[in-house]
Amino acid sequence: MDIFSSLPFLKEISPRLIMGHIGFHGPISRADIARDTGLHPSTITRIVASLMEEGLVQEDGEGHNELGRKPILLSLVPDSIHVIGLAVESTFVSGVLANLEANIIEKIDAPLHDTSRWAVQKEIELVINRLLERSKELGVSVTGIGVAMHGIINSADGICVFAPANGWTNVPVAAMISERYQLPVRVENNANAMALGEYWFGNGKGVENLLAVKVGRSIGSGIILGGQLFPGADYTAGEIGHLTVVLDGPLCKCGNYGCLETVASIGAVIKRGRLMLKRGDGGSLLELIGNNPDGLDFANLCETARLGDGTARRLWEEAGSYLGLALANTINILNPTKVLVGGDVLPVVDFILPKVREIVSVRALETLKTNLTIEPVGLGADAVALGAVTLILKELFTPEN
Ligand SMILES: [Zn+2]
Repeated sequence: MDIFSSLPFLKEISPRLIMGHIGFHGPISRADIARDTGLHPSTITRIVASLMEEGLVQEDGEGHNELGRKPILLSLVPDSIHVIGLAVESTFVSGVLANLEANIIEKIDAPLHDTSRWAVQKEIELVINRLLERSKELGVSVTGIGVAMHGIINSADGICVFAPANGWTNVPVAAMISERYQLPVRVENNANAMALGEYWFGNGKGVENLLAVKVGRSIGSGIILGGQLFPGADYTAGEIGHLTVVLDGPLCKCGNYGCLETVASIGAVIKRGRLMLKRGDGGSLLELIGNNPDGLDFANLCETARLGDGTARRLWEEAGSYLGLALANTINILNPTKVLVGGDVLPVVDFILPKVREIVSVRALETLKTNLTIEPVGLGADAVALGAVTLILKELFTPEN
């Protein structure tokens, strides 16, 4: 469904180019937009006037000019456009209503107790219904819905090719939601969406070569190369979770052995921790969690690490070592300038990242490390839902649609 049907003014390329430029670089003067985009100043003046008339752009104070008249700066009107973004994960659906600057206005989290296709579809609709109700209460209209979900997603056609946790194969997600709500819908893999969200609004803003890694119950990554998402020939690029990091390691759900996911996912870390406790190697950790090795879970493994327990911290650091190994290999191939780590693992990211950096500094090629930084995602726990929001917003901002 055409995203511009409710915003006919943005059908033309130049207004989108200018909108995107103001969104990305604003507050910015008309002269600077002309210099950066190569558009004629009179074209900028005319289009900006129309964008202001449409309520999408506003004058926002004065810039700096030592010689002459101070230029008037332009910024977007944040609440002129609203979008819904959904993160459909294996254990929950998270939905946000956000504005043009990806600020969250309303957020709804719904746990998934039943992962069958129809139960997940029902939960998705419940979350959308509640966000649409909220937008009505606020008197704002929704321009589109972005959906970020796990698995292999044909983003061009909005089809979920395969989502193992829900058992979805070839589900036309975009058409399904679009028909129900009569709104444009875009669908993307969750790690890819996270990468896009970070590139437009987060810690990777404007970083042309960026890798965003999502670590949770599974591990995936989104790759931005030359400012564009790199989906691969079959929408499966970035499957870092299935890089082999332990020869003859544990069996992975993909059928291979020793994949990153089998040793560094949250489930793998908990499994290793329980085994350690059963062997009697857990020090004071066993006592801290109530003397039941099987009682070790994500919540108490985060808590005990934060409290300073050595075993708990070591378990996360070990995950960091494996992640560092996979990242060193990936960095050698892609040469990104920033690697961002996000996902459910965020509460313990401070225990993981030092180890990741240490391993990468030893294993990645020297020349690739000069400009490289490894940091947590900037959009935090909402990085995937805001990535879904970005799927819609970037179309409004990008000339080449
Ligand atoms: Zn695997």
